[in-house]
Amino acid sequence: STVAGLRHRALVRDELVQVAGRVAESESARRRADAAWALREAERARAIPESLARELAAARAAGFGAWRRAREADDFDLFAPALERLLSAHREEAAARAPDAPTYDAMLDDYEPGATEVELEPLFAGLSNALVPLVRAVAESPRAIDESAFAGPWSINGQWRLARRAAEAFGFNFERGRLDLAHHPFCVGLAPGDVRLTWRFDEGDLRTGLLTVLHETGHGLYEQGLPVDGPRRPADDAVSLGIHESQSRLWENHVGRSRGFWRWLAPFLEAIFPDRAPFDVERAWPALHVVRPSLIRVEADEVTYHLHVILRFELERALFAGRLTVAELPDAWRSESERLLGVASPTDRDGVLQDVHWSHGLFGYFPTYTLGSLAAAQLFAAAEEDLGDFDAAFERGELSPLLAWMRARVHSVGRRLGAAELLEEATGRPLVVEPMLEHLQTRVGAIYGVEALR
Ligand code: ZN
Repeated sequence: STVAGLRHRALVRDELVQVAGRVAESESARRRADAAWALREAERARAIPESLARELAAARAAGFGAWRRAREADDFDLFAPALERLLSAHREEAAARAPDAPTYDAMLDDYEPGATEVELEPLFAGLSNALVPLVRAVAESPRAIDESAFAGPWSINGQWRLARRAAEAFGFNFERGRLDLAHHPFCVGLAPGDVRLTWRFDEGDLRTGLLTVLHETGHGLYEQGLPVDGPRRPADDAVSLGIHESQSRLWENHVGRSRGFWRWLAPFLEAIFPDRAPFDVERAWPALHVVRPSLIRVEADEVTYHLHVILRFELERALFAGRLTVAELPDAWRSESERLLGVASPTDRDGVLQDVHWSHGLFGYFPTYTLGSLAAAQLFAAAEEDLGDFDAAFERGELSPLLAWMRARVHSVGRRLGAAELLEEATGRPLVVEPMLEHLQTRVGAIYGVEALR
């Protein structure tokens, strides 16, 4: 709270607005973007009093502690007052910053600048209209997927070598970054020359650790490709969480789960794990696309994951619109989970209390995961149209043309364009759901013999 207050005091100083105003007249588009982002920060700070900046930080700190205790005890009531406090501080913030816009838009703006509830609603509706029947059809499909190709034991050291080999092939530069073990997989870019990834692994299942590394590597490639221009200026950063996630999902799902990539990877896998040779890619590939509704978002597959996100999107915007109270939240969670996924947790620990986000005041954050997947599919399709058949190229280990395409159109742009403009310039159209549904059709649809597109 103290630090948040000091930061707020620095951001509201008149000098910042004056300096940004001068930079805004620069001839360089990048410098003008620097000024625009600095002014945005200044205006956002100036809209609220220092006392509210402090209260937001204090409510988040208290929220996290309360959430941990509530989750441990599986008792939502222990978290409810802290959640009320967080919601009320954020409502106050939204009302001060954008009094005429829906409150939820101000939440989205923190993570996906420029995104609005009105724009997301039809995208997410289109998605759930396709994915809910897809998940049902998969459940009724008589085809069972043999997952034994990935069953352990897989030594940690071998997994480590294989994952690093794949990350290097993607183009991650280990001279300018590193990979370490942690409980929670993440990527943090301190600068393009210092990008740190973490992963976790499961000795019993090769997919867990490897796909985690491929995901974080995608984030890391974006960070390493951001404009290097001395000290990082406002416009040299990643444009939004959705675009960030588009890079991780692209490398994890579109490349890392492709047949071509696995045909390329198989000889390395056989060299590191000689007892697994020959590794049958055709038998293994379907097991990279298993769809199975589950209670926990972070363990969900490529399809049901988005139903977890839509559940949270529906509930948090209902909270901000006043259609739902905090007391009603656990039951609403159960019924939405039942409607979207066909399963619901009897406990709150594995239901409404499973994610840390709301306890940190991260409202409007979940949708960026799905926006990332949609953008990944759209970017991948556009790149493939430009560069030709990726599956054949991946099999030959040719991954650098795809990275170069992303470097030019996404990474090096930084925040010179907004997320929507960036996507439109790179792919020729605004964000739509079709490329992702087509991607799911060629993978999940084909494997289970069901229709993903209707
Ligand atoms: Zn991610």
